[in-house]
Amino acid sequence: MVLRLQSIQAGYGVKTVVSDVSFTLEPGQILAFLGHNGAGKTTTLKAAMGVLRPTAGEVWFGDARIDRMGVADRVALGLRLLPEGRGIFPDLSVRENLDVVAARNVGGGAMFDVDSVCALFPALQERLATRAGSMSGGQQQMLALSLAILGTPRCLMLDEPSIGLAPNLVERMFQQVRDVCKSHGMTAVLVEQNVAAAMKIADRVIIMNNGQIVFDGSPAEARASNFWHYF
Ligand code: ATP
Repeated sequence: MVLRLQSIQAGYGVKTVVSDVSFTLEPGQILAFLGHNGAGKTTTLKAAMGVLRPTAGEVWFGDARIDRMGVADRVALGLRLLPEGRGIFPDLSVRENLDVVAARNVGGGAMFDVDSVCALFPALQERLATRAGSMSGGQQQMLALSLAILGTPRCLMLDEPSIGLAPNLVERMFQQVRDVCKSHGMTAVLVEQNVAAAMKIADRVIIMNNGQIVFDGSPAEARASNFWHYF
């Protein structure tokens, strides 16, 4: 087991947004985490990452209980969140972006250092001196993904990574995520409105509605379920 959420409840102020959310992810698994806008997917990811403190329930990472742990400690364990709207430093060059995050996250024996992410995304290698904010949306998203996997990512949660990207780029990025999962045993959680693209790489589907999980099963079971008409 990599990540386990157990009866998580979370919200904002007095408003509870998600309740009784439980799931367990295994190494290498790719989860399509689906649901309408406002269903509570982002809130669940934030609670797992520690950006938001759950009001009830437990979060486990491997055999460590992490729901009282700070975000930096969760990152060090290998839990990563690629937030909606890209997590890059727009005024720094591509190289500086990579170096800043590598200085924090890449230790001896890391799965991905700067050279290995550049090998994974050759377009970045060619733009190391370019100001990150001046690149296209697709290139910025590649950089954000590179930053998220620097070090040793065990579980990468991606929140709407395809927004603003051309369909061919989405396909390429998702295949890269899948390759990393299958070759390195990384687990991925994919929150996506582009359901078709997510379903191409997913091996498990969770559907959330109104702050609760209403379906958890294989892609084939999801397509055959009563909940598929949501999409
Ligand atoms: P989306 O695809 O729109 O991001 P989602 O499934 O990720 O949808 P959440 O972003 O988790 O849904 O939002 C769930 C509910 O929580 C919504 O009703 C939203 O308005 C509310 N919400 C989200 N962020 C906040 C916040 N910072 N403060 C108060 N309410 C919030």
